[in-house]
Amino acid sequence: MAKRPFSWFVGVNKSRVVKDLENNPDLEMKLGRYRGRFIKWCAKERTIYEEDIFDEVNTFIEKYINSRLCNLDNKLWKSISKEILERDNYTCRYCGKIGGKLEVDHIVPISKGGTNELNNLTAACLRCNRQKRDKMPEEFEAWKLSRA
Ligand SMILES: [Zn+2]
Repeated sequence: MAKRPFSWFVGVNKSRVVKDLENNPDLEMKLGRYRGRFIKWCAKERTIYEEDIFDEVNTFIEKYINSRLCNLDNKLWKSISKEILERDNYTCRYCGKIGGKLEVDHIVPISKGGTNELNNLTAACLRCNRQKRDKMPEEFEAWKLSRA
């Protein structure tokens, strides 16, 4: 029962994402051969978070393409992630949430010159990581204040 509405929702989202891309040929170009993967990813993301196709494309490129281009294979990334989460005591740098679903965030985004150096990596909860997208840490703080 629980699975049905979810996949239905993803299906609906998928057609909306495709439409958004059709309306923004620049974005389609930007995605290039990652278009298919983006649509799949985006359709799932949209069930939880607000939608803005420009933001979504940037986030996708930041998190899934740029980090790959930094020559990190999955296995290495996994071991780095574990190290970072342990170092940060499984605490989200941005909201202080402990435990739960944590990810590793690039403090200075790759797209803005950040690296995969350990001092540029931090534990972040799923929500903060999604909201931060490719913002600089100061931009993210300002953004949060503006919403509070
Ligand atoms: Zn957080």
